[in-house]
Amino acid sequence: MYLIELYKSVQGESSFAGLPCIFVRLAGCNLRCSWCDSEYTFTGGKPFTQEEIVAQIEALSPCKLVEFTGGEPMLQAKELLPLMDVLLAQGYELMIETSGERPLELVPKAVHKIVDVKCPGAGSAANSFRMENLGALTLNDEVKFVLTDRRDYEFAKAFIAEHELRVKVGGILLSPAFSKSPSPLRTTENATLDPRTLVEWMMEDGVDARLSLQIHKFIWEPQKKGV
Ligand code: SF4
Repeated sequence: MYLIELYKSVQGESSFAGLPCIFVRLAGCNLRCSWCDSEYTFTGGKPFTQEEIVAQIEALSPCKLVEFTGGEPMLQAKELLPLMDVLLAQGYELMIETSGERPLELVPKAVHKIVDVKCPGAGSAANSFRMENLGALTLNDEVKFVLTDRRDYEFAKAFIAEHELRVKVGGILLSPAFSKSPSPLRTTENATLDPRTLVEWMMEDGVDARLSLQIHKFIWEPQKKGV
């Protein structure tokens, strides 16, 4: 399994935001979202065995929440799925942050899937969501829309309504995109879409979703890695 980094920090997104979490960031991604903040994962990474990764996670205990992220972790599904089984058997609570483009049916049901649906503002990654994945989602999972502008917001609203996401998944996340060249200041000025504007739209429309700010970008400088 090719690994970029493995570290303990605070979960920055989803309904788990604010909880201590061990992050396992895997190498490689087959998409190129216009606003991607993880381009350093596209190449490289070092190979580790399942045993070595479990040992690194255990060394960061007592934290019991582990997130697999990337890059796109499901590109390494052959090694990742057995690792998930091992960690679940050891009592870890697992999350996976995924682009939604890879098949998700084989991810153990106990794993919380945080699944992106790419909006038009994602550029070449737009429309990459694998529609069959809707059948793999449960109330244990969350769907995330990263928004750059009003067009993305309208896309998300329509997708939520058309696919009745509110009753299919445990959470719907609307997350303003961040600038790829943020200032070092820990401020919403670095968001491409002002969170205040997004909240106003959500209030006007009564959208039943959760505003999701990447809180690690307000705790640390926005471009800091390993946090
Ligand atoms: S799927 Fe994730 S890692 Fe891949 S390009 Fe998009 S934001 Fe970056």
